[in-house]
Amino acid sequence: MSMNGWEAVIGLEIHVQLNTESKMFCACANVFGAEPNTLTCPVCLGYPGALPTINGGAVDKAIQIGLALDCDIAGRCQFHRKNYFYPDSPKAYQISQYDQPICIHGHLDVDGGRIGITRAHLEEDAAKLVHAGGSGGRIAGADSSVVDFNRCGTPLVEIVTEPDLRTPEQAVAFLGLLKNTLQTIGVSDCDMEKGSLRCDANVSVRRRGESAFGTKTELKNMNSFKFLGEGMAAEIRRQIELLEAGGEVRQETLHYDPQARELHARRSKEEADDYRYFPEPDLVPLEPSGETVRRLRDAMPELPAARIARFREAYGLSEQDATDLNAAPETADYFEAVARASGDGKAASDWVRNQPGAVGTIPPEGLAGIIGLISAGTITPTIGKQVHALLEAQPSADPAALVADRGLASIGDSSELEGMVDEVLAQNPQFVEQFRSGKEGVINALVGQVMKQTRGRADARQVQQLLRDRLKTGV
Ligand SMILES: [Zn+2]
Repeated sequence: MSMNGWEAVIGLEIHVQLNTESKMFCACANVFGAEPNTLTCPVCLGYPGALPTINGGAVDKAIQIGLALDCDIAGRCQFHRKNYFYPDSPKAYQISQYDQPICIHGHLDVDGGRIGITRAHLEEDAAKLVHAGGSGGRIAGADSSVVDFNRCGTPLVEIVTEPDLRTPEQAVAFLGLLKNTLQTIGVSDCDMEKGSLRCDANVSVRRRGESAFGTKTELKNMNSFKFLGEGMAAEIRRQIELLEAGGEVRQETLHYDPQARELHARRSKEEADDYRYFPEPDLVPLEPSGETVRRLRDAMPELPAARIARFREAYGLSEQDATDLNAAPETADYFEAVARASGDGKAASDWVRNQPGAVGTIPPEGLAGIIGLISAGTITPTIGKQVHALLEAQPSADPAALVADRGLASIGDSSELEGMVDEVLAQNPQFVEQFRSGKEGVINALVGQVMKQTRGRADARQVQQLLRDRLKTGV
């Protein structure tokens, strides 16, 4: 995209569904996909007189998120009522945190930049509206809308970033690292398709070098990294074109339609919602003890950002490769086990990134065995892939034994290889003649034939050298 001297300013609001056993303020089960309206009680349905109680497990997970994002954990925080009337909120208010969130002032480093975390606070999720009878599952064109209250009252942490992101790519990379971090600390499955991780983006543009922010718009509910990136790029383009044509950006909420690749206005933000926040009278302020915070800090695993840095340092990997390996915690663990067992981090990285099927299938020692056989020259990389496939079917097998049993060892400069070279030359006198009359390109066809005969057990460069020697000496 041509930015023509413009710069984008992006901030994200991310909602993370916590994987607690029960809901935020009641004992109803917190599971996805149950029969609609089977996981409800007077508390989450907001019956008069029903009293909420705080889920301690959700508080712990919110603190873990804060610690992972280098936030300050509040010694005292308060739940507020956020009042609004909407069919997905039976109480006509949401219990959230307003001016005293549980986590503030953190950051997450991505792509060499530091992205500030304004806050991360606890709240309850709304119910789910299902628009039935239409084609797109959206309210426009639907015959009716029904409500599933199972999700109502499940625990959410809302993470708000500073407007520190400058490109859609950086925002997507940030979200990827955040997702890996949340999965690593085990607070959420972060499954975007199930809505466990949902992202809104605030987007504005300004002339490069300006420090004031332009008018921002809000892109709602981006439920995949790909659409998030596309939606932000489309919105940045729209704002730049509008401003360059002398127009003005209106503060509004937009939805990106990935099928049509279009942005649609949802509702105007000009009549700013007045939520009339007030302290939740049924809940006392929350005071996480220093002991709790210490316990959770001590139990914190190594986080992806630290692990990416360590992988680069310890195994000499590029930032991109180290980031790819950290796309999922089990992949990172597997890579590290293979790197340790083989003593070759670069090769381990190449294999794990290129053969993702091995993770959880082939024991790390098996893959390390293949890497060792290749570096010792016992097998070629091509045969290595065959052994890999054999191990996928028979994970406990010993790679060296497989190579011996099946005669897969490399043909070095043995008479076997020379014999094959002579045979192929004898069968292709026309190529020999063409080569000698200057059409040296035909050698590739000869190499291919010899390689076919060796079934991948020879090094192609070595075969080519042998062929050249033979052709030049005129045997
Ligand atoms: Zn309930």
